[in-house]
Amino acid sequence: MLTDLVVALDIGGTKIAGALVDGKGRLLVRVQRPTPAQEDAETVMRAVEAVLHELALSPLWGRSTAVGIGSAGPVDASAGTVSPVNVPSWRDFPLVARVCQVTGALPIQLVGDGVAMTAAEHWQGAARGHANALCMVVSTGVGGGLVLGGRLHPGPTGNAGHIGHISVDLDGDLCPCGARGCVEGIASGPNIARRALEAGWRPGSDGDSSAAAVAAAARAGDTVATASFVRAAQALAAGIAATATLVEIDIAVVGGGVAGAGDVLFTPLRFALRKYATLRFVQQLTVTPALTGANAGLVGAAAAAGLGRRGAAAIVGA
Ligand SMILES: [Zn+2]
Repeated sequence: MLTDLVVALDIGGTKIAGALVDGKGRLLVRVQRPTPAQEDAETVMRAVEAVLHELALSPLWGRSTAVGIGSAGPVDASAGTVSPVNVPSWRDFPLVARVCQVTGALPIQLVGDGVAMTAAEHWQGAARGHANALCMVVSTGVGGGLVLGGRLHPGPTGNAGHIGHISVDLDGDLCPCGARGCVEGIASGPNIARRALEAGWRPGSDGDSSAAAVAAAARAGDTVATASFVRAAQALAAGIAATATLVEIDIAVVGGGVAGAGDVLFTPLRFALRKYATLRFVQQLTVTPALTGANAGLVGAAAAAGLGRRGAAAIVGA
């Protein structure tokens, strides 16, 4: 039933995007607002409502059969609430109930943004055709999601596959989540940049000290910049190997801004993976860049709501 559409929402700490997505994953209408992340809960919700109301102006709105929401986490899909780390006023915020006030009788599926990205990669990206995959976003934070047995595996609360908060360094630095030595604390973009600066790397004349600038320096042969990426790659590899050993994935897909470093990240990542993924049943594991890009959150939210899995029409009767 390609005539049916899904209303997709992608809610992050920087922007709130919405789209009407068709059965081929095309965004027929797309709108976006900045996230008033430091404002009170109602102000943030008004930005979500503004996105929905703008989508509802489209003559295509009436063809919508479901709503898919991908949100910065943690989320609780079973309770319909979200508590995005970067939106302090939203703690156990009843997002599903509030969206329902706008969208009416349409069924709503909420997942974490890492799970949404995984749904997008499984439907249309690098994990397509793979029955068992770990997909991850490495940027300001590190998130992820799992495909197991050919199906998206969001877990009971929508957070399964959150590889950023697996500990890979038992006595490592304290993480904001409360644990120590998390993958995110070693491999996120800000931590790649911090480690390079602490080891003596200095930005160029433009003053750019982002992970992308560290990547450019590494590409130009800077050994300190290279070492920071090697350390990040090591943490990612340990997390990926642990995941593969637990649930037997055959591919790990890495997206997000840090993946834009290309070979600066992927070459040491593949090298480190061979050191950590040693048992016979994980030796064939491959690591590859994500393909779905900037709209992965919207496409994935739509996919999590059923598009591409069984057709939007099936959701109504589900
Ligand atoms: Zn953590």
